[in-house]
Amino acid sequence: MDRIVKGCLVTPHGRIEGGWVGIEDGRITAIGQGVPPAAAQTDDHGSALILPGVVDGQTHATSYLGLPGIAPTTASAVAGGVTTLVDMPYDNPLPLDRPDRFAAKADAVAQHAHADMALYGTATRETGVAQLKALIEAGVVAFKISSFESSPTRFPRIAEDLTLDLFEQLAATDLPLGLHNEDQEIVHARMARARAAGIEGIEAHSTSRPLAAEMAATAQFFALAQAAGAHAHPVHQTARESFDITAMFAASGMRATGELCVHYLWFDAARDGERLGARMKVNPPIRPGAIDGIWASVEAGHVAFVSSDHSSWPIDNKYTDSIFDAGAGVPGMETLLPAFFTLARDRGHDPALMCAQMLSEHPARFFGIDDRKGAIEIGREADLAVLEEGAFVWDETRAQDGLNWSPFHGETFGARVAATYLRGAPVWDGSEVLNAPGSGRLVKRATAGWFA
Ligand SMILES: [Zn+2]
Repeated sequence: MDRIVKGCLVTPHGRIEGGWVGIEDGRITAIGQGVPPAAAQTDDHGSALILPGVVDGQTHATSYLGLPGIAPTTASAVAGGVTTLVDMPYDNPLPLDRPDRFAAKADAVAQHAHADMALYGTATRETGVAQLKALIEAGVVAFKISSFESSPTRFPRIAEDLTLDLFEQLAATDLPLGLHNEDQEIVHARMARARAAGIEGIEAHSTSRPLAAEMAATAQFFALAQAAGAHAHPVHQTARESFDITAMFAASGMRATGELCVHYLWFDAARDGERLGARMKVNPPIRPGAIDGIWASVEAGHVAFVSSDHSSWPIDNKYTDSIFDAGAGVPGMETLLPAFFTLARDRGHDPALMCAQMLSEHPARFFGIDDRKGAIEIGREADLAVLEEGAFVWDETRAQDGLNWSPFHGETFGARVAATYLRGAPVWDGSEVLNAPGSGRLVKRATAGWFA
């Protein structure tokens, strides 16, 4: 045995107090309780919780620095207990819509990554459906498009005709098509109206991107997928009404899932907007009074998994006179696990179990990487996040992401990541990232079947 890691294990079959994980060649080869067998190295974490490493299903590592942005984002990942990132295709300067860009990003993972990475692909007006097959063969785990144009080159709007073509091509596969789900015409008109009235503070952000715009885009997307027989997945839903649409289509028997980002469950636009301003600007927006409803959706099983939607833009991007000119997105690699743990605890759930399911098991299955990732089980890779419970105030200056700003600055979490293991190797010790850039690997889809 190469290594034994001791602590309170959180497995798919429940907690094992005084448990241990045995690791050989980077994989979990034994799980037990009490006195462990001899090993070259034994790490005793006492009563700390040992969770499966987080599979963060939505990150934007490259939107600012381009492919080298993988280095700081993945250093931040391991500091947050995230051992696999599923990175979005909106790379700077050009999106991942063809095999040579997949190859370039795979090379960048091999050169820069501290954590393992799986990759989304996309389709643009330029590539249409022509590159889907080659990207699947190259190893993308999912595709994503947007119904709202954030950038004509990097992050274009894809209209319904191409969306339908994509669904028809993907119907025979297990790969989901994800959507940035906002109706472009509604948002543009409401933003113009607010600007004309001189209403340009954070309060105008959620009203100019109303829930109606999210719901309309979501419903239309599902209808196209239903007709084509494909798997549709809006990547951020921000309110119960939106998840209700997902549940309605899922009840029809089609492959419909929806994703939640942790900030929608933590922040409330009415309560936190004035204090945070553009620091809480994300798209779709954080809404007023939505938290209880979102929890009801989680508890009803209408949320597939929870992600960070980590954005790698520096804070300078937010310093604008008008909220409409401020950059959207927030850093989140190091706050996802402690924040969701805290929220689940305060809501009365078993927070460790809920984190293991919603942050690891479900996303691993969703992206078809659950033969290696997503649970503390014999045969899987030994990706572990060690959580120490307590009261810890989040300090943005201590982040490993090179950004050092966060809407969570000053918030108190009920746990902190005391250690992280990637395929059996210690990569975070609670204060420092221990592995070299290039230690992370590319993770390809391997298991068959769709999420449910
Ligand atoms: Zn995103």
